[in-house]
Amino acid sequence: MRVSRLLLVTLRDDPAEAEIVSHKLLLRGGYIRRISSGIYAYLPLLWRVLQKIEHIVRDEMNATGALETLLPQLQPAELWQRSGRWDGYTAGEGIMFHLDDRQGRALGLGPTHEEVITTLAADLLRSYRQLPVNLYQIQTKFRDEIRPRFGLMRGREFIMKDAYSFHADEASLGQTYGAMDQAYRRIFARCGLRAVAVEADSGAIGGSASQEFMVTAEAGEDLILTSSDGRYAANQERAVSLPSPAIPLQASSCTELTTPGQRSIEALCSAHGFDPSQTVKVLLLLARFATGQPQPLLVSLRGDQQLNEVKLANAVNGRAESGAGALLEIAPITPEQLQGEGLAALPFGFVGPQLSDAVLESARTWTPRFLRLADATALELERFVCGACRPDSHLVGASWGDLCPTAFLRPTGLDLRSAQPGDRCVHEPTQRLEAARGIEVGHIFQLGRKYSQALEATFTNEAGSDEPLWMGCYGIGVSRLAQAAVEQHHDSQGICWPVTIAPFEVIVVPANGDDPQQTQLAEELYDALRQAGVDALLDDRSERAGVKFKDADLIGIPWRVVVGRGAPQGRIELVRRRGTVSQELEASALLNSLMPALQNERLGLLEQHA
Ligand code: ATP
Ligand code: MG
Repeated sequence: MRVSRLLLVTLRDDPAEAEIVSHKLLLRGGYIRRISSGIYAYLPLLWRVLQKIEHIVRDEMNATGALETLLPQLQPAELWQRSGRWDGYTAGEGIMFHLDDRQGRALGLGPTHEEVITTLAADLLRSYRQLPVNLYQIQTKFRDEIRPRFGLMRGREFIMKDAYSFHADEASLGQTYGAMDQAYRRIFARCGLRAVAVEADSGAIGGSASQEFMVTAEAGEDLILTSSDGRYAANQERAVSLPSPAIPLQASSCTELTTPGQRSIEALCSAHGFDPSQTVKVLLLLARFATGQPQPLLVSLRGDQQLNEVKLANAVNGRAESGAGALLEIAPITPEQLQGEGLAALPFGFVGPQLSDAVLESARTWTPRFLRLADATALELERFVCGACRPDSHLVGASWGDLCPTAFLRPTGLDLRSAQPGDRCVHEPTQRLEAARGIEVGHIFQLGRKYSQALEATFTNEAGSDEPLWMGCYGIGVSRLAQAAVEQHHDSQGICWPVTIAPFEVIVVPANGDDPQQTQLAEELYDALRQAGVDALLDDRSERAGVKFKDADLIGIPWRVVVGRGAPQGRIELVRRRGTVSQELEASALLNSLMPALQNERLGLLEQHA
């Protein structure tokens, strides 16, 4: 390919729309253009990168025996209603784009494909003899993300590889899950990425075991917690840890304390010398469901602990009244909402776990009872400080037995706290959790039988009776991966693509495009490289050498061959992009010197590190 034919439009300055370096470099290097919020055109250079990633993904997926397929992006609402996910994905903070067709039938644009594939499985899979089977596709997905940002990292239209496996039993599911884990490690290594596998929350997809693959980078949106012995790694959404011990409160009975304006734990503790671990804070929240009544929540936490919203959502989901439908959101109760419900104001900042359900008695639409939950660290406190449920007043030396004498008032104890960096590890208390930021590039799940039961996808087992299929699903964010690679591989001059996913492997640059000897030799080398099977680019533009070198560095081609003043003597320069290592050599020796290094890099990190 010749640069003059490449439609290469590079930008000298950082575009205002980009915050993180990979996004800036992809825009500046002419890889992408923004069409609308979270919607990007993949320009020819990026398309080559994406195709190389897809090739690696296909190669490794096919090697596991998975079958490639292509499923419809327009999906009938009916399938999502049968799985129970239509409301959750379309109402409230739901991320599915949806529309009505000319007959008024509702359709969604596929954010994921469990419903479609399970419907197919119900039709195609009849007997245990057909199992296991693993189907995958590489396709555009649509998600109306609440905060599309960082270019391809969180788009509203993006490319995903998604695979779905079907099994006769859980053991077989476990085997394929393990094979996918291995295939994913190979895929990321071949793409030149340092990725770590972490325990993950299963989220709206559902199911039991799940693991994410994180590309470690400062710009990552996820916080991952790992132990330095390498035995524990989890997304903070899911991570567990041992809490620091609470400092016991010296009190044998409960007294009331005047605490004017001291609404926060911080204000309370600094005014009276309490340690936050001696206090219980109460969060009043409202959970909204697709069909059921809004449910007020009273969540108690030890004052020094942070609420983990994902753990809370899972807990609320598991305790919702049957028929409530999907959980849409959980948000703090506001004074305006209380007023709207016709309820009396609450002493926010001074509420304790003993707050009576009587305050909800006359609610218009809410369930008139709190769902009472507490983190285990709060429930373990013998005596503590908490709100007195009266303005400007706290209780000191309260105990659960005094405050909540009836089982009705007593909260259910759960793990609701966020593990924090520095916490002791559960597997080995001498280890501490360390934090790192990560970009989620892949996610594998053991779904179990949730979807096959809902969509009646059964098979006949060896004993001759029908049972629901066991399922797994496995995603890779292909377009996000391309940008994650830039986040991990760049320098002050531009991108440094790993060879395996670079749009071109080598760029040949005649320093002076008006010099016939230089252009002649450059053309010859370009031909020789292509004949040797190298993905080569020739910068045939009549630009100054400096401009061409800058562009080559910016777009990040791993190797540069410079044909300059030495051309008449047959001398050229070979420059490696990463680290800018350059070497002068005879033009005739180019292939001999370049090919062994290139072959080695083509294998990716995997073999190099094996
Ligand atoms: P996230 O937590 O980042 O929103 P997710 O957990 O919802 O992602 P999955 O349903 O697990 O995503 O999708 C599989 C993969 O698709 C993810 O691991 C990620 O790499 C990619 N992906 C998900 N959402 C987006 C998006 N909006 N833009 C680009 N890639 C995405
Ligand atoms: Mg995920």
